[in-house]
Order: sequence, then structure tokens, then C-alpha cells
Amino acid sequence: MRILVTGGAGFLGSHLCERLLQQGDEVICVDNLFTGSKRNIEGLFGNPDFEFVRHDIVHPILLEVDRIYNLACPASPIQYQYNAIKTVKANVVGTMNMLGMAKRVRARILQASTSEVYGDPNVHPQRESYWGHVNPIGIRSCYDEGKRVAETLMMDYHRQNNVDIRIARIFNTYGPRMSLNDGRVVSNFIVQALRNKPITVFGSGSQTRSFCYVDDLIDGLIRFMRCEKFMGPVNLGNPQEFTILELAKKVITLTGSRSRIVRKPLPQDDPRQRCPDISLARKKLRWKPSTPLGEGLKKTIAYFEEALKNFTAETQRAQRRRG
Ligand code: NAD
Ligand code: UDP
Repeated sequence: MRILVTGGAGFLGSHLCERLLQQGDEVICVDNLFTGSKRNIEGLFGNPDFEFVRHDIVHPILLEVDRIYNLACPASPIQYQYNAIKTVKANVVGTMNMLGMAKRVRARILQASTSEVYGDPNVHPQRESYWGHVNPIGIRSCYDEGKRVAETLMMDYHRQNNVDIRIARIFNTYGPRMSLNDGRVVSNFIVQALRNKPITVFGSGSQTRSFCYVDDLIDGLIRFMRCEKFMGPVNLGNPQEFTILELAKKVITLTGSRSRIVRKPLPQDDPRQRCPDISLARKKLRWKPSTPLGEGLKKTIAYFEEALKNFTAETQRAQRRRG
């Protein structure tokens, strides 16, 4: 298969490109390198089945492909709020462009949607049938509402133009290749702990999230894309729920850090609880995550130890060059 991965130089995208190549597919990675980096895909450049195109999906592009994974969009609250209008454009105009391409070349398209479509949920755990509780005018809306419109577009292209679609609602996923300054909770806590700096818990820390290890999530996405006659939406995530304070303590223990926990203000509209009901994924995709949080954190910590060493060495080299 010839497969397009938009956002392929990002955290999830780079793992997906790698896995697809291992399976023998040809992969075209399209990315504007806003939050992604060439370093994430440097191991793939020598592979004749891999191509990288630096391109922003807000502008049309036509590629002859069989499958499209549409992942291009910043995912960390700090990054997607940095240029909120651009985030809306990536989700609305960008998704429309990808759907236009899917229609033209008759490709199957999978949209990386999110648990954020449920907003600050009143129903717990969240099932796909829940319509959500989303603030349309808050600081998270560019992402939440952007992703909701992207789902709407997917459904309308399917109903009007018979485009073959898949909608995956991804819950908090973590692992190697998150960037050092990504801003999401797992990478923040690990980097802070490894530097023995204060661990910043926002609010009381009693808000919950459910953390899925990247390898499990990629399995789920690939299974879903392969699945005939089921277009979702389907939740993909790990249903084990933790408070943010529990996560902070776990990271301190696993890193053996001297860091202490400090409180910072809770950002506006921060969801109080989040946990996927994955019955549908279990039934339709025969998928469930298998990596417990402790195990996934250990692998992620090992990655960040290495990344921090490289970062320090690079900074020292740059200082020496400057004299
Ligand atoms: P990421 O920020 O690491 O990756 C996003 C990638 O998209 C980056 O490489 C970035 O440069 C690229 N990009 C952004 N805007 C673009 C544009 N206009 N044109 C081309 N490329 C663009 O984030 P991630 O965690 O890998 O997330 C990937 C996708 O999965 C996103 O769509 C995100 O919304 C979705 N998702 C992720 C999670 C998670 O926990 N990781 C949860 C829910 C949904
Ligand atoms: N959070 C925190 N400290 C940080 C970063 C995040 O306490 O340094 C909290 C944040 O307020 C939220 C949770 O961790 O309640 C998850 O945040 P993240 O940005 O990873 O993703 P979200 O699920 O909110 O999109």
C-alpha cells in the first residue's frame, strides 16, 4: 500500500511511519515541522520506501495514495494555543483538503480525533455515544471544536461523496519522541524529575487522565485502518485512570528524583476527569492496550535520559562555538 501520514514527523506520526514501513508499506510523510522534527524520522530517510514532504496541509496537495492517516495538528495545549487560529485552520481547512484528496484518489482516510470532543465530560467513563460538554469560546476551543468540525466533515464527505472514512478518538498517549518542551503532563513531569526541578502540578492534582503507551495506540490505529465496514467513531486509549498527583508521585519514584511537587494554577476549562470506555474497540477491532503505566513510563524515562544527555552535549558544543 502507498500510505500518506500527515503529521508524520510528530510524536505519534513518526512511530506510525516506522511501523508501516516495517510492515512493507510505502510511506509518504507530510509535515510542516511546527511541533514535529526531522530528528523523529531521521532513521527512516535511508529507506527507499519512505518520502518526506515539507508541506502545510492548510494548502491543497494531491498525492496518489491508497490510505491517509490525518494526524497533522499540534496536540499539546501549550502548542495548540500558541496560534489558535492556525489550529482551527489545520483542523478545518486541513482536514477538508485531506478529504478532498481522499475523494479524488479514492483513498481510505483515518482522522486522528480526540477525547477532547467530550470536553469536560458529565458522563464517566466516556462512550462514543456521548455528545460531550464543550465550551465553544474558551482557550481550548480551537482544538476541541476544531476536532469536532473535523469529525463533522468526515461524516459529511462520507454521506455526500461516499468517502471511506475512519474516526479514531485518541485519549492521552505518551512515550518516546515526545519533545522535551512539548508541555504535556507526562513529558513535563519526566523532564522536571530528571533535572531534579520542581514538578508542576496544576490545581489540586485530583483531576484524572488515562494514559496509553504509544505502541498500544499505534496497534489500535493500524487495526482500525485495516478493519472493513467499521468507520467508528471509536475510542482508543487505556482505561486505567490516575489522578495527576498519582502520576507525579509515580514519576518521582521511577526516576529516583529529588524533585518536590509544587502547585500552579489550573488552566481554564481543564477537564476534571477523563477515562475511555473501550468496549467498542474491544468488540470491533479486538484491541485493548497491554502496557501498564509503570512499564510505559520506564521506557519513556529511558528515552528522556538519552534526549537530555544529547541536548546538554549540543548546548555545550554551541557554547564552545560561540567562544
Ligand atoms: P505532535 O504535536 O507531536 O504531532 C503533530 C504533528 O503535526 C507535528 O509533526 C507537526 O509538525 C504536524 N503539523 C501540525 N500542524 C500541521 C499542518 N498544518 N500541516 C502539516 N503538519 C502539521 O502531536 P501527537 O501527539 O503526535 O498528535 C498527533 C495527532 O494525534 C494530532 O492530530 C492530535 O490531535 C492527535 N491526538 C493525539 C493525542 C495524544 O495524546 N498524543 C491524543 C488525542 C489526539
Ligand atoms: N498538567 C499538570 N502539570 C503540567 C502539565 C499538565 O498538572 O506540567 C495537568 C493538566 O492541567 C491536565 C493534565 O495534567 O489536568 C493533562 O494535561 P495535558 O496538557 O497533558 O493534556 P490534556 O489532557 O489536558 O489535553
